[in-house]
Amino acid sequence: MKEKFLGVDVSNFTYDQLKNNIISDINEKRKSFIVAINPEKILQAQKDRGLLNLLNKATYQIPDGVGILIASRLNGGSIKERVTGIDMLLALCEQASLHDKSIFLYGAKPNVAEEAKDRLIELYPNLRVAGVLDGYVKDQEQIKETINEAKPDILFVALGSPRQEHWIVDHMEELDVSIFQGVGGSFDVLSGKVKRAPAGFQKLGLEWLYRLIKEPWRIKRQIKLPTFLVKVWKSKK
Ligand code: UDP
Repeated sequence: MKEKFLGVDVSNFTYDQLKNNIISDINEKRKSFIVAINPEKILQAQKDRGLLNLLNKATYQIPDGVGILIASRLNGGSIKERVTGIDMLLALCEQASLHDKSIFLYGAKPNVAEEAKDRLIELYPNLRVAGVLDGYVKDQEQIKETINEAKPDILFVALGSPRQEHWIVDHMEELDVSIFQGVGGSFDVLSGKVKRAPAGFQKLGLEWLYRLIKEPWRIKRQIKLPTFLVKVWKSKK
């Protein structure tokens, strides 16, 4: 159920398949790790073998970004739906509240995870939040103990990429957690510190355009999309 783009695996599961798989992973006590893949990360992995191996270690590499959908089409693949990091986080919180599983929010600036928690409880009143911890605590032992005492089923890690992915791989085994997801700036969005594109932009696949208007420096990141598509196209031959 994976497609490869320049050596990086991407899962072709839809939200519904992911939701079912993850609840089974928790019930059967399997550890899994979700990472959001976009063209920028794939290009970065071309220059960094360690990052490439790290991304391929994940259980579910979700296709975050229209660039991946276009690349899948170029390769004759079957990835038709974008699965964004923040929507996956919301889908998991919904599942957690339906199946009585707990979550933990680790990362972002002090108070942000707390505010993200309040927003999630507004959305899913039955959600069990086992704990929150900001991303600037330095003591790794303290972080490990806090999470292990809370024993969440799902841990969201918001330390930015690829730092959060390295952190997850380095700590997965010693943490009493089933599902790990790296969520980048999602707590900032949930807390209201950073606004997401209006629904209309999202539906049309133009979230990138909205972000470009709001944060013009993003052009440096977005300009990489054509490079990525050309590389995928060439790698076919
Ligand atoms: N962050 C953190 N600890 C750090 C560095 C960053 O918790 O030592 C947080 C930061 O506050 C922000 C997130 O990591 O909430 C990074 O978000 P960004 O949008 O840069 O990540 P991306 O989605 O681009 O990977």
